[in-house]
This record gives sequence, C-alpha cells and structure tokens, in this order.
Amino acid sequence: MGLQENIEAGAHVAVKRPALMRQQAFIAGHWCDADSGETMAIIDPATQRNIGHVPLMGGEETTRAIAAAVSAQRDWERVPARERAAMVARLGQLMVEQADELAVIMTLEQGKPLHQARQEVVYGASYFKWYAAEAPRITGAVHPVADPGKHIEITKIPIGVTAAITPWNFPIATVARKLAPALAVGCAQIVKPAPTTPFTALAIAHLAERVGCPAGLISVLTGDAAAIGAELTSSADVRMLSFTGSTAIGRKLYADCASTIKKVALELGGNAPFLVFEDADLDAAVDGLMTAKFRNMGQVCIAPNRVMAHESVFDDFRDRLREKIATLTVGPGLDDRDQGPLATQTNFDKVRRHVKEALERGATLVLGGGPHELGGWFYQPTILTDVPRGCSMTCEETFGPVVALSRFANEKEAIATANDTPYGLAAYFYTSDVARERRIADRLQSGMVGANCGAIGTPAAPFGGIKQSGIGREGSTFGLEEFLEAKYICRPLITAAD
Ligand code: ADP
Repeated sequence: MGLQENIEAGAHVAVKRPALMRQQAFIAGHWCDADSGETMAIIDPATQRNIGHVPLMGGEETTRAIAAAVSAQRDWERVPARERAAMVARLGQLMVEQADELAVIMTLEQGKPLHQARQEVVYGASYFKWYAAEAPRITGAVHPVADPGKHIEITKIPIGVTAAITPWNFPIATVARKLAPALAVGCAQIVKPAPTTPFTALAIAHLAERVGCPAGLISVLTGDAAAIGAELTSSADVRMLSFTGSTAIGRKLYADCASTIKKVALELGGNAPFLVFEDADLDAAVDGLMTAKFRNMGQVCIAPNRVMAHESVFDDFRDRLREKIATLTVGPGLDDRDQGPLATQTNFDKVRRHVKEALERGATLVLGGGPHELGGWFYQPTILTDVPRGCSMTCEETFGPVVALSRFANEKEAIATANDTPYGLAAYFYTSDVARERRIADRLQSGMVGANCGAIGTPAAPFGGIKQSGIGREGSTFGLEEFLEAKYICRPLITAAD
C-alpha cells in the first residue's frame, strides 16, 4: 500500500472505528499483546484497507488462557445458577444496548450490510437471554427403587473448561451459541475467533468485563489458528471443543481431540437443497429463497446450494426469482444496501471459480455471472440454470450470492437428488399439499428442515447437522446438554423402619 493510500486508510478508520473495537487479546482478565509483539492486520472487505491489528498469538498464550480458565472454572461452577444466569442475561442486554456499535464493528471486519449486522447482534444476544432463562432449570433425577437396595441419584454437572473456534461468516452469532450456554451452566470458555473477524469477539469480551465476568472465565485469543488449535485440542484441561467451520478443519480437530478424549460439538459444512413443488405458492417460495440465500451474500452454511423446481413450474419460478434478484442493490456494508462484498479473497475466488466452471461446462446464465462493477470482492447476484452434475457448485458449498437452479420431474427424484450428498445440515421445500409436506419433511436427510419456511434460526431450536455436517447441536436444551455431563451417585437405599 502506498503512502497516500495509507493516509486515506487511516482517515477512513479514524472516522469509523468504534470505541468497543479492542486491538488486544483478552487473557485471564487482562488485555494483552502477543509474547512476540507481532500483530496481524485486519482489513475491511469493502475497501481492502487496514482497519486495525490484533496480536499474533500462539501456543504459549493459549497455555496461559487455559490455566486461567481452570482456575476461574473452579469458582464459577459453584456460583448459584441464578447468579450465573443474571450475569449472562446482563451480557445479552448490554449487547442489545450496544447493538449499533457492535454492528459497525462487524460490518467493518466482515462486510455484511449494517442492518444485517445489527440483526445478528440482537440474534446473538437472544442466545444469552434464552440460556440465562434455561440454565437454572437444569435438573437431575432420582431412582429410589430402580435397583434393589440402591438409591440412584443423577445430577448434571458442567463439563469443565471449554474451547470455541468460530468462523468469519457470523462472527457474533457463532460465538453467542457457544459462549452463552457454557457460561450459563458453569463452564469457562476460551474463544478463538476467525482470523479475519476478531473484533466482534473481542468486543463481547469487553462487554463481559463490564458486566463483572470473573477474570479467566472468558479468554479471546487471536493469531495463529493452527498453533492455538493444537494447544486447545491437546490440553487435558480443556474438556470440550465447540467448533463451527469447514468439514475439513472439523475433521482434523475431531481427530486431534481424540488424544485427550474431549467431547466435541461440530457445526460443519452443508449443501442445502431447496425444493419447489408444483403445488407450491411460488411467491412464498421466492421470498423464502431470498431470505435463506441472500442473507450475508450467501455466505451461510445453511444457505440453499441446490435449488430445484418441478419442471411444470420451473420457468415461472425462475422468472419470478430473476425479477426479485435483479432488484438487489450492492454496495459497501456501511452504505447498508442489500448486498455487501464477499468477506475474504479466498471466498471471492471460490465463488468466481464455481461460476466460471459451471458456465464453461454448459450451464445457462440467467443473471449476473461475474464480479460486480464495484470491483474488489463485490460479486453480482447470479442465477444459473442447468448446471451439469459434477460441477463444483453441485457438490460443494458455493458460499456466495449464486443460485444454481435445476428441475425435477417427480417427488421421488427430488428427494433422491436432495439426499445425494455427504452433508445433512439444512434442507428447505415448498408445497401446499399437507400430506406431501409431512412426507418430504420426514424423508429429507437433514438436521434442520424449513417446510414452507426460509428462516429457521432461533435459540429455541436445535441447530446442527447429520451425516458429515456435524455432531451435536447448538441452541435449545440440546445445546445446553453439550456443556453438561451426567454424574451418577449410587447409595445404599435406606428404608424407613416400620
Ligand atoms: P472457513 O472456510 O469458514 O474459513 P475454516 O474451517 O477454515 O472455515 O475456519 C473456521 C475456524 O477454524 C476459524 O476460526 C479458523 O481460524 C479455524 N481454524 C482453521 N484451521 C485451524 C486449525 N488447524 N486449528 C484450529 N483452528 C483452525
């Protein structure tokens, strides 16, 4: 970057950098630099300009965070559940109060339009509120006569120190889903946010400090993912890892956790089908697809990746969809249009590669089809039809604003194609036939199903996948269980004298 650009970048950030944007990591209740003093630059995807730095940490700093977590854990798990819940609720409340500022931070580092960033902050906060209400209701069980002469008591105990490794597409929601239940049930957590989006996680640590979170209970580490990950996975003191990210890295972390028999919760990739049957309300289906697909520029693990319409409604659906997508406005996230830039160079390259490959192999271009005239990592909202089977976009997540639309002849074919993937995270379909609705919901091999519905995320429901999309759930009481162990105490049954 030349001098002039540096000056401009500095000015750009000085105007926009919010007070909550911390440029140090948070360990054992202290804001710290890396032992080496090294930092890494964070850039704004809209301008590709430097918006700040965070410490480039590795294994040593991670070891210190783990030691602090072990000590904080001992006290925190003894704090009465309602007191823990009160702090968790206050943190959620503070996030809502600071939503505007948190949203600016998220947009600056991740690129999404400001209104979507704000929605994500409020959505993330809802996990803190939900778990604050839910955790004090955890109960155990007593079986006085299940086994002759024995009194069987089962309690739920916090699993211990936990680690969270999170991705860049939802920098607050993915942290909230892990941190809120962990804190609420009595666990410490070490958070390693994605390298490109650390500032929102650091801002949460800052807010946690403000609500009186004990030192060491939350640490946020920035830096070398592999070195931090190696320490977190190999430490016997870390009893559980909650990860959201790619299947490839999830597989590696799962294997690494085996050495210390750590519990894992893995939210991995998807390849969501979206089926539109001949009896569907087509406008509702278009709206559902717009919601599911174009949020966060399509960089969503549950975004539909394979859209299939019955051949009798295919043309009509395509035309209605084209009309809607053509109205989408594109611009820097801070300008708050419908679509921002893609968040990383890697993702921009992947989207471009997928579309180019599909077109070269004979797909039909309906709309868009390449980088946006704004340049940088902006990409045009795109529709392709008849993408040949075997193209990358039919079997991998494209993670961009690209709809690949194909047709099916009957229900059997639709289901077979939808399930023909090693993934099973989310699936969507639209029909107005009640019997079919039940049948399809039943047969889709997927952890989550949107039946005439394009927005499925809520703290009250278990978020997660089957097959190679993951292990475990986030949200709801299922998400709470990930951070708990069942402890069984056996006593001789004392029978009362007559
Ligand atoms: P994405 O494709 O969304 O970037 P990744 O799986 O590469 O997904 O990244 C998700 C998270 O996993 C990020 O926080 C990233 O830094 C982290 N990560 C990547 N490689 C490793 C690793 N070897 N050990 C621990 N964490 C890692």
